[in-house]
Amino acid sequence: MKARILATTAATALSLVAFTGTPAMAQSKQDSQSLDWDVAYFANDSVLPFNAPDFTKISEDAYLPAFEKGMAIQKAEIDAIVNNPAAPTFENTIVALERSGRMLGRVARVFFALTGSNTTDKLDDINTEVSPKLTAHGDAIALNPELFARVKAVYDQRAAMTMTREDAKLLEDTYEGMVHAGALLTAAERERVKEINTELSEITTEFGQAARDAMADQPVIFDTREELAGLSDSDIKAAADLASEKGFAGKYAVALQNTTQQPLLPSMSNRAAREKLFQASYHRADGTTDIDTRELVAKIAALRAEKAALFGESDWASYAMWDRMAEKPATALGFMERMVPALAATQRREAEMLNAAIAADGGNYEVQPWDWYRYANKVKAERYDLDEDAVAEYFQLDKVLEDGVFYAANKLYGLNFKRRTDLPVYHPDVWTYTVYDRDGSELGLFYFDPFQRESKRGGAWMSNFVDQSHMWGTKPVIYNVLNIPKAPAGETQLVSFDNVNTLFHEFGHALHGFFANQRYESLSGTAVARDFVEYPSQVNEIWATYPEVLANYAKHYKTGAPIPTEMIDKIDAASKFNQGYDFGEVVAAALLDMKWAALSKDEAAAIDTPEKVDAFERKSLEELGLEIDLVPPRYRTTYFNHIFSGPTGYSAGYYSYLWTEMLDRDSRKWFLDNGGLTRANGDHYRETVLSTGGTMDYFEMFRNFAGREPDVTPMLEARGLTGGDAAADSEVSDDGPAEVGDAGIEVTE
Ligand SMILES: [Zn+2]
Repeated sequence: MKARILATTAATALSLVAFTGTPAMAQSKQDSQSLDWDVAYFANDSVLPFNAPDFTKISEDAYLPAFEKGMAIQKAEIDAIVNNPAAPTFENTIVALERSGRMLGRVARVFFALTGSNTTDKLDDINTEVSPKLTAHGDAIALNPELFARVKAVYDQRAAMTMTREDAKLLEDTYEGMVHAGALLTAAERERVKEINTELSEITTEFGQAARDAMADQPVIFDTREELAGLSDSDIKAAADLASEKGFAGKYAVALQNTTQQPLLPSMSNRAAREKLFQASYHRADGTTDIDTRELVAKIAALRAEKAALFGESDWASYAMWDRMAEKPATALGFMERMVPALAATQRREAEMLNAAIAADGGNYEVQPWDWYRYANKVKAERYDLDEDAVAEYFQLDKVLEDGVFYAANKLYGLNFKRRTDLPVYHPDVWTYTVYDRDGSELGLFYFDPFQRESKRGGAWMSNFVDQSHMWGTKPVIYNVLNIPKAPAGETQLVSFDNVNTLFHEFGHALHGFFANQRYESLSGTAVARDFVEYPSQVNEIWATYPEVLANYAKHYKTGAPIPTEMIDKIDAASKFNQGYDFGEVVAAALLDMKWAALSKDEAAAIDTPEKVDAFERKSLEELGLEIDLVPPRYRTTYFNHIFSGPTGYSAGYYSYLWTEMLDRDSRKWFLDNGGLTRANGDHYRETVLSTGGTMDYFEMFRNFAGREPDVTPMLEARGLTGGDAAADSEVSDDGPAEVGDAGIEVTE
């Protein structure tokens, strides 16, 4: 099982499970023969091809006892390692640890796949019950002092050992993972770490709930319908209904959405009402109402800085980034700060353009954040005139997948795909394919679950039912999940261009999983750093609009006519529009995250009042050099869930969205410079990046691929941030509208 305490990795639900927890053991609920049988299902590999899960053999009642049994088995396996009378060796300690928890892994993979894409009330209840047990199980292993003593004994001999690169990486990750959890601290320090973890877990949960309440329980109240002029009748009715529900019958209530910008603002023609809605969003949870998260923020920042100091680190970012590609806060900061001058200039240019649009519209004021998207959307509509429904008529789901995504994978990597109908699936809308490698051998199994439904959470993601591992002799069994609205029965299933892009994106993750070529699951395929995992998936998006691929799949569903070139050019050009805002708000949020994470213990302790939280945020933002009053951060401190909700989350990690985009854009340039869609290029990318898993330094991996260090310029070009008119529609690029913060395998938007 994945030894991901070590978790270099994308924090998937699985990584939680990897080193999960305590014993508690199964006093369990195996109270009937058939249930015993269902639990026993997970005790061994499935007998289906590729060890694919047999959904016909697993009842919901089996999960909890199966989890408990899986944890008990792993506990016993850890005890056996610890109690082994033989001296610690790589094999009897590190590999034995890697081998532990196999049943737990099988249960978790199937269970968390279902809670994501086809859940039930019962599965949700089991999830609530089992999650803290899994966390405790993981902690009990990661902080087991006897286990660490053996791991350390092996680690200390490493200079004298002859190891493969992968063995060496497994040893290093195992050791460093336990050190990062606190294994090298004194007993008193470990106790304090545990206290801090518990406190952080409580306070960050409180932050998340308060931020949610400030959004959900405090809608903005408007007295008259006139204030909402411009909204659709259904939006206005929804506002009237919400007002009644909240005790304001006869008035109108608009609920806030997660981000600083609010989706209804562009439609609202009443400027004062726009300002009111925006200000309510911007001042959310900052004490303007009775909800105030500022004291929680101060406590979280102080506890994190204290924890970092216990580990001898100067600040939380230095502690939290140990396993990232960027590794040092200064690297992530420097990378972002290089973008600031061009970005700030673009923001000013866009503001001038919008001021002109406002004047042309008869307005006598300068653009403010609450006006921005109203006028940006108007200019965009005039310039690009894109009808999304007309675009979708060229994208038919099965053709996008088989003649687009699979076709590109065939040209680049020599893969072939064969639909199969003999395997059990968890929902009738799931399609399965055998994937054949370039030499005709079986590479793995692919499940495709495209449609929106009530039982599925939002977004799109990829994961594995079975990980590739030479140790276990397993080939990858991979699923992609999307949320495409299902066409009514009898109608052709069309797909929006955004979803076309998402399809290519998720299959990029799948390729990373299929080409895995590792001995150990915990280093296999997509088991890579958070600021790396979204890189191969973004690269695969390039082929969605690549001419040769488009010509093969983007055909009108009625006439078969190829998609007009000017339609693609418009999509490309429109994707560069308004980057001063779209990109600027993300950069501002990422920098704000790093400022909070860069506080020393003393600096953090000095921010001890709500006013000081405000002042620190203001000062941090002003220092950036961006037009921060025109383009505020996508999330302000008081409702920045990514970084303050949950014990770690994306704190000191929000930059990952930008970092992987840099790698992606630079790699796209490499492909285009070297002839585009060729087997030679595909094989080279597979060899240097896609097949390498987490076995190597990420910069080394990139250098092996590109022959040089990553360069931020292609990203700035793709974002239209290299000077000139950022919105010029004469520019042509290779790129689709890359969403910052899609819902990939571990991304929470
Ligand atoms: Zn992704």
